[in-house]
Formats: sequence, structure tokens, C-alpha cells
Amino acid sequence: MPKYDLCIIGGGPAGMMAGIMAAKNGKKVILLEKNKELGSKLLLTGGGRCNLTHTNLTNREFALKFGKQGDFLLSPLSSFGVKETMDFFSENGLDLKIEDNKVYPKSEKSKDVLSFFRKELNKYDVKIILNREVSNFILEDKIIKSIVLKNSSEISAQNYLISTGGKSYPMTGSTGDGYLFAQKMGHTITELKPALTPIEIKEKWVSLLKGLTLYNAGIKLNNEKQIIGDVLFTHFGISGPIILNLSERIKSKDKIYLDLFPLKNIEELEKNIVNSIEENYKKTIYNTLEKIIPSKLLLIILNFSDIQKETICRNITKEGRRKLINNLKKIELNVVGLLGFEKAMVTKGGVSLKEIDSKTMKSKIIHNLYFAGEVIDLNGETGGFNLQMCFTTGAVMGQNIDN
Ligand SMILES: Cc1cc2nc3c(=O)[nH]c(=O)nc-3n(C[C@H](O)[C@H](O)[C@H](O)COP(=O)(O)OP(=O)(O)OC[C@H]3O[C@@H](n4cnc5c(N)ncnc54)[C@H](O)[C@@H]3O)c2cc1C
Repeated sequence: MPKYDLCIIGGGPAGMMAGIMAAKNGKKVILLEKNKELGSKLLLTGGGRCNLTHTNLTNREFALKFGKQGDFLLSPLSSFGVKETMDFFSENGLDLKIEDNKVYPKSEKSKDVLSFFRKELNKYDVKIILNREVSNFILEDKIIKSIVLKNSSEISAQNYLISTGGKSYPMTGSTGDGYLFAQKMGHTITELKPALTPIEIKEKWVSLLKGLTLYNAGIKLNNEKQIIGDVLFTHFGISGPIILNLSERIKSKDKIYLDLFPLKNIEELEKNIVNSIEENYKKTIYNTLEKIIPSKLLLIILNFSDIQKETICRNITKEGRRKLINNLKKIELNVVGLLGFEKAMVTKGGVSLKEIDSKTMKSKIIHNLYFAGEVIDLNGETGGFNLQMCFTTGAVMGQNIDN
């Protein structure tokens, strides 16, 4: 009889959650991680703050954030959903805070989430082996007999979990190994694409704004309806939650239009600008508008409008004012393309949902194999949805493992 009930391959959020739940359930668990530490990607999440999950949605609304694939999550969410996840953290000592329905650790430090997982894994005696890369699975009649490590040693267990993550941010260890393992054992891997990806923009001036966030800007993709959200400028283009969510539908040569005053129409904006100009008629236009428009962006908009920074308000021509207002309402950005897996937050595609039992996360092809986390063909919007999917699939797997 193998020494372990469960061998987990990959120590990210999904693998760690599965390990804790299985061990809590009385199973002997071993977790193998190829990095020298667990949870390298977890540490980067939420800009280091770790957006753990998202509250205030029904399970159906939550599942919709995963598009067509979301239905798969309904059953797992009903047994380990957002509430169970938040209780799991807070009842075991990780205080949480909620901002705009997004849940973070109260300390706003992802390293505290990782320490929490390490503590729980230790509490339930999960054996963790770091610096161990799995390179192969030995199969006999649709049953995994053992796994082979890169150093050629073998480990055998009753059951195996592939929680190796996706292909995005490969420097964190997520290099797509799980897809190859699953495929070799007969699973279908749907097309893999980078998702939640920053967008590369043709206009070179965007790099001058690197690091600037425009809050509540109007964002319009081609002729679609305008949406409102935050836009972060990067040295090659734009990013930020709403842009990342939009990225799945964006392709090269698309146009994105930004509106700095989406809640005002042209006439209302014109009235405001005329008032500001009249009130500040002896000041420069730059000093006047700097209070309402980020200064670096203002310089660019003045340039587009052929207005010198030093121009005194009373000297602005009607034509200059018209151009200025049009530019404030519509900044055109031309899409070059999306950044690839290197900068994508998640991977679209993965192990086909048709081949996994959503009640247990068990493979429908290999008798003692399970999947959890990003390796599965599930990817959601930003806002804590992806980590929750990892916690949900990991917990359901751990709670339902066969003897
Ligand atoms: C910059 C960034 C920010 C993000 N922020 C958020 C956020 O705030 N909220 C949110 O919900 N989601 C966020 N995400 C997405 C989230 O991080 C992922 O969905 C999540 O980490 C996936 O978890 P996982 O356990 O499936 O895989 P991973 O976290 O990728 O972990 C897989 C582990 O398996 C190991 N592994 C791989 N192959 C092998 C092998 N052959 N042998 C042994 N070990 C192996 C890897 O080293 C890795 O440690 C973010 C992603 C990025 C890149």
C-alpha cells in the first residue's frame, strides 16, 4: 500500500487548499512544489495585497464571471463558496477586509496569506517537499502507479492532484506542465491563450504617463457602448482591472477611446471649462486645468489641442477651446496587440470541463487523478474570482477524495 493517500503536484493556492482539506479529512498528504517556496504567484496577487475573493454575488452571478464555462462552478460553489472561504480564513486567524466587494487580508499583505497557508498545512501534517519538479506519470490500466521526479526518484500514492496552474507569468513556476501531463494521460486540453492581459498601444506618448491611473474614465472599444472604470498607463500601453477584463475581446487594430469626463456631455463640459477660464482669466491654462486633470496628461492634451502650456486663459481662442474640449472627451488609442503569457494574469483554456466531475474534481478518464485551479479550463474576471475558483476547486477536491 502506498504511504500517502494523496500526492499533490503544485503548491499554489489550489494545491495548498486541497492539501489542507484532504488532511483535515484524515488523509495522509504529500505536496510537491518545484520552486524553493510555495505560492510564488500568490505573493504577486492584487499588487501584493492579494484580492482573495469577491462578495455580494449569488453563486450564479459569480459563475457568470467565468463566461460560458461558469456553469461548471455552480456545484462546487454550493459546497465551498465565498462564505465558506471567508469563514475558513477568518476562523483560522486571517482577518479580512472588504473594499468594493473585493476581499483582502486585513493587513493587505499577500505574504500573510501565504504564512496562513503554511501554518494550516503544518497544523494538519501535510508533508511539503520543495525544489521537486514532477516530470512524468507512470500509468497502468487508467490508474496512476507513481510519479517520476526530475531527479529520477519516484513517489507513489493512492490518488494524485494536478494543481500546476496555467502558463501565465511562467517565472513563478506556472509553465504549463500540468497540461502536458493531462494530455499524455488522455485528457483534452482546450486552446490555451493568455487572458487578463495588458494592452499594447501604438501611441508612444502613453509611456510618458507610465504609472498614472485615471479614475472613473470613460472607456469605449470601437463602436461599443462606453463603460466607466480606472485606466492604468504602462510604458507600453494600458492596463487596470476593466482593461484586463476587456482584453479577451481585444485584437490588433482595434481602437479604444478614453473620455476624461464621462458623466458630462460636451455642452456641460464646455460650460465648466468656460467658467474655469473666466474665473482664472489672468492665469495660464495649465495652472487652471491642473487642478482637475493629471498634469502629465494635461500637457499631452494641450499639445493635441495646439495650445501652449503658458497660454493665458483670456488668450485662448474659441477654436482652441473647441479642440481642447473634444480632446478631453475623446482620446484615441490604437491597439497594437495584447501582451503574451509573460504578462497575462491567467490562462484561458485548460483541461476540458467535460472530462472532470464537478462534484469531486475527479478525472473522468484516469481513476485516481484529480484537478484543481487554473490548470482546469476556467478563467474569470479580475476582482478575486480566479483565486476563489482555486480555493473552491481545491477544497471540493480535498473534501471528496476517495479512500
Ligand atoms: C500578477 C498577478 C496578479 C494576480 N492577482 C490576482 C488577484 O488579486 N486575485 C485573484 O483572484 N487572482 C489573481 N491572479 C490570478 C491567480 O494568481 C491565479 O489564478 C492563481 O495563482 C492560480 O492558482 P493555482 O494554484 O491554480 O496555480 P499557481 O498559483 O500557478 O501554482 C502552481 C504551482 O505549481 C508548481 N508547479 C508547476 N509545475 C510543476 C511541476 N512539474 N512539479 C512541481 N510543481 C510544479 C508551480 O511552481 C506553482 O507554484 C493574479 C495573477 C497574476 C499573475
